[in-house]
Amino acid sequence: MNWYCLIYILKFKVCVRRFIVDVSDRGDVVIAFHLCKGCELCVASCPANVLARGAALNRQGYYAVTYAGAGCRGCGICFYVCPEPGAITVRVRKGDDD
Ligand code: SF4
Ligand code: SF4
Repeated sequence: MNWYCLIYILKFKVCVRRFIVDVSDRGDVVIAFHLCKGCELCVASCPANVLARGAALNRQGYYAVTYAGAGCRGCGICFYVCPEPGAITVRVRKGDDD
């Protein structure tokens, strides 16, 4: 097993742990409106259903996703599935990640 496999396994374990435990409203989601390509992979994979397609086109001509503003579990799945670097960021609130 190489280092990349080990890192992905560890990331996966963290995601699963955060998904199983009740961790509602644990993260802050920031979407870079003009970087999002509107692919909606994050919308489809969010276990809390707090992401949705937005109503406004960004300067690339895509409907950027929006965050509901609350209810994020901080699992990071949206971050891992997003193909656009910097389009979506999740900050787990300090003190909640133990
Ligand atoms: S981190 Fe992303 S995928 Fe996970 S609950 Fe929050 S918005 Fe949804
Ligand atoms: S996965 Fe990334 S690029 Fe695709 S809609 Fe979500 S934030 Fe935008």
